[in-house]
Amino acid sequence: MKLVLASHNAGKLAELRAILEPAVPNLELIGYDGPEPVEDGVSYLENALIKARAASAHTGLPAIADDSGLAVEILGGSPGIFSARWAGGRDNVENRQLLLKQLADVKPEHRAAAFVCTIALVDAGSEISFTGFWSGSIAHEERGTNGHGYDPVFIPEGFEVTAAELEPEIKNALSHRAEAVSQLITFLNA
Ligand code: IMP
Repeated sequence: MKLVLASHNAGKLAELRAILEPAVPNLELIGYDGPEPVEDGVSYLENALIKARAASAHTGLPAIADDSGLAVEILGGSPGIFSARWAGGRDNVENRQLLLKQLADVKPEHRAAAFVCTIALVDAGSEISFTGFWSGSIAHEERGTNGHGYDPVFIPEGFEVTAAELEPEIKNALSHRAEAVSQLITFLNA
């Protein structure tokens, strides 16, 4: 079975292929270089569906797409779908600095947050989605150099270090993305 990953990101394809292909017999995950739709959805699910529908319509094959972000409780779930451009541009350093500034006076017990990842699968008009969460809290300052995005300011539940201080293998086993992918694998193998 051929499955298209609705992303132009070669790194994302390689990473997901290494997880999915060994876990799902006869699956071939292929890249997508067709037109990219405008991501104007108002939720992780809507944005993932917009991308998966476009790739499936363009290729005539089943397609998956993911959408992810950071939800901070005291900010009502923001940055949420605006995570990548929270400070206006697409600069991760500026995004993190703005978030730390917004939470500067917030006490540790009120700094709860979670990473969220939704994967949508679209196949000949039928649609299903899988969502994973990674709970934790927002640190008072940046720590660590691994990972990307908000990892240096996110302390996963059960840890005292940030996600950027964890070994990538540990993050990859515990993360919101790992949980969503594991649900997808279960579905594809059913
Ligand atoms: P995308 O869905 O891959 O475009 O991710 C949206 C944004 O959410 C990213 O630009 C990051 O700012 C944030 N994000 C999503 N997943 C992670 C993660 O695992 N670590 C850090 N930031 C993340």
